[in-house]
Amino acid sequence: MHPRFEMTHLHPLFFLAEKYSINELKNKVMDAIQDFGAQHRILPGPKNITRIYTNTHEGSTPGLYSVLTRSSVRALSDGESEAQKLAYLASTTPDFLGDYLEAQFKYSARFRPEGVVDPRLRGEKGGFVRCFFHTHAKGEVCNLEGVGSGTK
Ligand SMILES: [Zn+2]
Repeated sequence: MHPRFEMTHLHPLFFLAEKYSINELKNKVMDAIQDFGAQHRILPGPKNITRIYTNTHEGSTPGLYSVLTRSSVRALSDGESEAQKLAYLASTTPDFLGDYLEAQFKYSARFRPEGVVDPRLRGEKGGFVRCFFHTHAKGEVCNLEGVGSGTK
């Protein structure tokens, strides 16, 4: 699959699922975004993030995923090109910048250079817990319930 598959198919599908509040579809698409990112070693770029923020509600999981993947890059990079991306996002997508700054405080322990988490890993060591990017209403069973072992 082409790396732009995420932008051309997965994100629009998420926008639709969010519009109609279909949690199971939202969660499956988020799982696919993570898996696709891990497999192809890609993460949302600045233009893609602007598009995500334009098309999702406040606090949506693709926005959070964008914030945390950019945070992991910043923790690992020398900063120059990441600073340019953040400057672009500051002018186009102020909401992203607010979420990004909040995440620096909230998740600072996860973005230390000696042990940076990879938000593309789901329920594995070095990533976030299985349902971190899921939305579950009260009583709703996770689509991954019974799949694999990964709740660590
Ligand atoms: Zn879940």
